[in-house]
Amino acid sequence: MPATIPAIVFIGGGPRTAGVLERIAANRPDVFAGPLQIHVVEPHVPGSGRIWRYHQDPGLLLNSMAADITMFTDGSVDCEGPAAPGPGLAQWAAGVLDASIIDVPDFPQQLWDQLRTLDGTTFPTRQLQSQYLEWFFRRAAKSLGRSVTVHRTTAVGITAGPDGGHEVEPANGRTLHADIVVTALGHTDSQPDAVSAGYSDFAARHGGYHAAPSYTTDVDYSPVAAGQDVIVSGMGLGFVDLLVLLIEGAAAGLRRRTTAGCATFRPDGSHGCGPAPGAACRTTRRFPQPCGARLRGRRGSLRPRRWNPCCSSTANWTSTSTYGR
Ligand SMILES: Cc1cc2nc3c(=O)[nH]c(=O)nc-3n(C[C@H](O)[C@H](O)[C@H](O)COP(=O)(O)OP(=O)(O)OC[C@H]3O[C@@H](n4cnc5c(N)ncnc54)[C@H](O)[C@@H]3O)c2cc1C
Repeated sequence: MPATIPAIVFIGGGPRTAGVLERIAANRPDVFAGPLQIHVVEPHVPGSGRIWRYHQDPGLLLNSMAADITMFTDGSVDCEGPAAPGPGLAQWAAGVLDASIIDVPDFPQQLWDQLRTLDGTTFPTRQLQSQYLEWFFRRAAKSLGRSVTVHRTTAVGITAGPDGGHEVEPANGRTLHADIVVTALGHTDSQPDAVSAGYSDFAARHGGYHAAPSYTTDVDYSPVAAGQDVIVSGMGLGFVDLLVLLIEGAAAGLRRRTTAGCATFRPDGSHGCGPAPGAACRTTRRFPQPCGARLRGRRGSLRPRRWNPCCSSTANWTSTSTYGR
C-alpha cells in the first residue's frame, strides 16, 4: 500500500475525459493494480459536458449520423491496451428500447420518441447524444471502482505543488492535489480580440448588437428583433446552429401563435418573427463544406416545412469568393 494514493485530476468532464477514463480502466490490470484517486472537475453533467448537455435547444443536431457514432474501441482502433467493444449510439438506442440496456434514467417522452425513430442514417439531436455520453461516462467511472469523484464546478487555477505535483483550485471548494493533471477543456470561450471588440463597439454606437464568438446555444439572441437584418460571419457548423436557433426557433414561436398551424414568412418581416440573415463566407468551398461521410439520408422525405418561395428573398447568401458561381 503506497503512503499516498496517486491522484489524477481531470479538468473538464466531456467526451474526451470519458474516453480517457475508459482507457485507464481497460489498461489498469496490466499497468497499475494499486489504489488510485481520480477527480473530475466539470460544471455540467459529466460525460456530456457543456457541448452535449441535455438542456439546450432540441433543434440542434449532430453533424454525424447515428451509425458513425461510438465511444468504444474495437479491432480497427490503433490504441494502447486492449480494445473494449461496446454499443455505438445506434446499437445503444436499440438496446435501451429492447431493455437489454437498463442502466439509464427515466427519459422524457421526446427522447423515447427519438429513440424509436432513430436509425443508422439519422442525424441525432444533441439532447439524445447527451444520454449516450452520460451513460458511457457512468459506465467508465464504475469500472474504476470507487476511484472517481466528480466535482460539479469550474477549475480556476493550477499551481505547482510542494512535491513536484500540482494543486488544482476548484471555484467552490477545497484544493485538489494531483500527481497528474489532465486538461480536457474542449472549445473554450475566449476574451474578445481587438476585431471582435471593435465590432461590439461599432454595434453599440449605432444602436445594433454584436454577439462575440461563443457556443451558439449560449448566445443571448433576445436583442435580435423581428425582421431585423443580421450579418453572420462564417458559414461553418456554427452558422447551421444559428439558422436553426434564429429561424426554426422563430418559426416554432410563430406556429404556436397561428391557429392554422402553418408558418408563413414575408420578406419585410411583417410576419412578426424571424430575422433575415445575410451570410458571408471567405472560403471557396460551397456551403455546407464537404466532409468525409457520404450523406445517406432519405432524400424524398426532406421536404421544407416552414419555407416558402418568398423566404428566399429574406435570406441573402453571399460569398467573398466563388460561392454562387
Ligand atoms: C458546437 C459544436 C458542435 C459539434 N458537433 C460535433 C458533431 O456533431 N460530431 C462530432 O463528432 N463532434 C462534434 N463537435 C466536436 C466536439 O468538440 C467533440 O465531439 C467533443 O465534444 C470533444 O470533447 P472534449 O471532451 O474534448 O471537449 P468538450 O466536449 O468541449 O468538453 C470540455 C469540457 O470541459 C469543461 N471545462 C472547460 N473549462 C473548464 C474549467 N476551467 N473547469 C472545469 N471544466 C471545464 C466544459 O464545461 C466542457 O464540458 C462539436 C463541437 C462543437 C463546439
